[in-house]
Amino acid sequence: MVVHRTARAGLSVTRAQRRRLLALLVSGGDVWAAVLELNAWRRARQDLPLASYQELCRELAASGSGTFGELDSVGARSVLRRYSDAWFAAAQRRREGDRSARFPRRRRALMPLRWYHGHFTLTGRMLRIAVARGRPPLWVRLNRDLPYPEEQVRSVTLLYDVGRLWVDITAEVPVACYPAGQEPDPDLVAGVDLGIIHPYAVAGPDGQGLLVSGRAIRAEHRMQLTDRKARARAVARRAPKPGQKGSRRWRHYRRRQRLAEARHRRRVRQAQHEAARTVIGWAVARRVGTLAVGDPRGVLNLEAGRRHNQRTRDWRIGHLITALKDKAEAAGISLQLVDERGTSSTCPACATRIPKPAGRVLTCPGCQFTGHRDLSAAASIAARFGGGITPVIPAGVTHRRAGAHLPGVAPSRRDPRRRAHDRSARGSPGRHRPAPPAPPRLARESLVTSARSLSTVPKYRRVH
Ligand SMILES: [Zn+2]
Repeated sequence: MVVHRTARAGLSVTRAQRRRLLALLVSGGDVWAAVLELNAWRRARQDLPLASYQELCRELAASGSGTFGELDSVGARSVLRRYSDAWFAAAQRRREGDRSARFPRRRRALMPLRWYHGHFTLTGRMLRIAVARGRPPLWVRLNRDLPYPEEQVRSVTLLYDVGRLWVDITAEVPVACYPAGQEPDPDLVAGVDLGIIHPYAVAGPDGQGLLVSGRAIRAEHRMQLTDRKARARAVARRAPKPGQKGSRRWRHYRRRQRLAEARHRRRVRQAQHEAARTVIGWAVARRVGTLAVGDPRGVLNLEAGRRHNQRTRDWRIGHLITALKDKAEAAGISLQLVDERGTSSTCPACATRIPKPAGRVLTCPGCQFTGHRDLSAAASIAARFGGGITPVIPAGVTHRRAGAHLPGVAPSRRDPRRRAHDRSARGSPGRHRPAPPAPPRLARESLVTSARSLSTVPKYRRVH
């Protein structure tokens, strides 16, 4: 039993290596463009398009070596594979009646390239990328250690994203094995409620609960929004009109903007992965073998106003679910999606509908049950899945925080919220001290100010 997992690493490269890698990606784009053009010609001649991988490979072989610069045939074939997959996926969707599905037809300057096992060498952080025969070898250095052993790595993908070169490393990871008596038990069900304040609220058997706080992620979203607005305000006057060519300064501004957006996306992604890992660790420690996850995606398409729409977009619910699903799979835990409609306004003890509480505490007027709103929702989800849990007031709630690396957590200069004056201090920073006395004014400065005041006074009188 194995699962495939992908990790991304940045590349530390010299200027010459960067040039060569970018040239490879450009060659990948050339292969893509060549296929598009080939099929455009065939279409004009009313021939059938070439879409199968084998046929495209035959065309590539016929083009001879050296057509696409330093790109070797394996890297070029990965572009053909991508084209073929995209073409058949579109054809499938069109057969099913989706008229908006489009065949690939847009050119791209840089195309990601993939090499499979046996066509690259990975030793420690050093990666040898395959190039065409006769070219000097291309060794590059990854900027971090990979979470997988070298022998499990199955493919590497070279790509360019927002000004940087990256490598996606895909590995075959065996599903976790447990000693006898410690493996997850499929009959132990935990309900998972997905939220914004708590990305994951988990209610397990025996009244055990886990709350992962997402306040740091929310703060990151807010600060990002503030920064973005401030940047937009600062450059609004210099923005080119529609149809006008942007200046070099404008290009630099757009680049900085894209970098900031990409950093923000990476931060949120990382925090959500950490949160999912916390949930899986908690479930493994309690031998929970089934996670019933409430899927709220049915309600997300409802128009709910500008602010709420922004909030649900920031939530990235699909990523929360896939991150949890992938990690559950690798840990040997099964994950089931459950309709979560109404679970946040249902009493988990007597199962009656009650008005959704505004705060975090749910109180049932019928049976006097009081508990955490998100945990109660999670308990109701588990009950809906038929886990046979008696939802009780959680006996032991574990609190965890997602995004330990986010700037809202440790004191940072961008964080506008009030906080203690240094990292080690726990109390208040104390009362405000008076400002230090101003340095004595220079004689000349006082002369200038008095002269100015003399000159303005008569004017003022003359007006009236
Ligand atoms: Zn009740």
